[in-house]
Amino acid sequence: MPALPKKQRISALLEVLAKTYPHAHCELVFSNPLELLMATILSAQCTDVRVNQVTRRLFERCRTPKDYAEIPQADLEAIVQPTGFFRSKAKHLKACAQALLASHGGEVPQSLAALTSLPGVGRKTANVVLGDAFGLPEGVVVDTHVQRLSGRLGLSRHRSPENIEADLMRFVPKPQWAVLSHWLIWHGRRRCGALKPDCLNCEIRGLCPSAEKDASKIGRKNSPKRRKQPAAAPATPEAL
Ligand code: SF4
Repeated sequence: MPALPKKQRISALLEVLAKTYPHAHCELVFSNPLELLMATILSAQCTDVRVNQVTRRLFERCRTPKDYAEIPQADLEAIVQPTGFFRSKAKHLKACAQALLASHGGEVPQSLAALTSLPGVGRKTANVVLGDAFGLPEGVVVDTHVQRLSGRLGLSRHRSPENIEADLMRFVPKPQWAVLSHWLIWHGRRRCGALKPDCLNCEIRGLCPSAEKDASKIGRKNSPKRRKQPAAAPATPEAL
């Protein structure tokens, strides 16, 4: 384990991540809070690249909550079909837009409580919108990369996103909550993949407790062989 006390180690870690990924940002393409909200709902169990391909067409057809509320369900399903779970995602987009019209004057609300009361919007989606569309983070986005990296970097011993988020909020200063998830997501995508962490070339190797372990063992935890064990029920895009 690195010799630095946890608080200092995390602070050093944040510094290196900031230098390594100075341009880290949300990789979903959006130009307003409504677009980010809808794109994030679609991103459940789907890559950002695929979502961006779909939203190019979607955002041409639907520019306002009224457009989502009025577009025929079948048309909406056909547009969002490539993102998977398309029936329930189309249903959520419509229900969410209707709730925006009914309760928020057609505007995307700016609080966690109001956002998570919208159909199809869970804590993760709400945190994305608050942090990236409004610059008002009330929490930390915990996706699969953040979950994996938090464990490997010794930021949290927990497995559930809620508990990991609570740890990250405790250890990381609030002004860095939004960018923290981008740093970890970017690092997870570019350096610390689930199967093959590139520890040898890793910028934060000296601050990472897992770097001292055999890299192949870190990867093996997530290898297909291990995943042969009874799998958990596939996550649905319900309120992520
Ligand atoms: S040292 Fe290895 S396990 Fe640690 S963050 Fe870097 S790539 Fe991931």
